[in-house]
Amino acid sequence: MTDTSKPLAQAIREKMVLDGKRFWAGDNISEYVTPEIKHKLIDEATEAFEMVLDRLLIDRDNDPNSHGTARRLAKMYFNEIMAGRYDPAPDATAFPNDSKDRYEGMLVVRSELRSMCSHHHQPVTGVAYIGILAASKLIGLSKYTRIAQWCARRGTLQEELCNDIAREIQKATGAEDLGVYIQATHGCCENRGIMAHSSLTQTTVLKGAFKDDAGTKKEFFDNIKMQQEFAPR
Ligand SMILES: [Zn+2]
Repeated sequence: MTDTSKPLAQAIREKMVLDGKRFWAGDNISEYVTPEIKHKLIDEATEAFEMVLDRLLIDRDNDPNSHGTARRLAKMYFNEIMAGRYDPAPDATAFPNDSKDRYEGMLVVRSELRSMCSHHHQPVTGVAYIGILAASKLIGLSKYTRIAQWCARRGTLQEELCNDIAREIQKATGAEDLGVYIQATHGCCENRGIMAHSSLTQTTVLKGAFKDDAGTKKEFFDNIKMQQEFAPR
């Protein structure tokens, strides 16, 4: 029996509270949001965005450009800029890397990122460099980027995002030795507030040998510099 008097979003919130499930802007809550539920949540968010536009005194009835804006916003949040909250983790099948001629070197993958600051919902645009020392399993190269983008498509802080990517890559690869370096510009600083012309921010998370071994750390940052010579920031 479903209680039709309250919004579905409220029922799900209550369930998450009951379960002790955290649902901050940067958290994944995919176990509570099936595709069918998402559909209904988009309808509810559309109504809520309509009210926001009304409160902003925007004539969404007569302004043709604002006519479908509430639904566009609702869909954009669920399906694009916050998709990483509602979608399950990307499938990253691991392949064994334990034969006698296994790859033992460092792997550095450059992943373009689009994220959003959770304070102002302004765009964060940048790249993550993910480095690992190959462990007993490897995942396909595109999977590093899929995982990084899945972490990024939420409301984030760059520092947290760096940690989230490191944790998820560690989970997918089993690698103990890894580094994540993110370079990003923040709409939050460029479009409002201090209106900075460029707001390049860099964050780094280092684990295992990337943290403790000077040679590994240097190799990681040398790799990043080499990548930057070939690819635009
Ligand atoms: Zn912000």
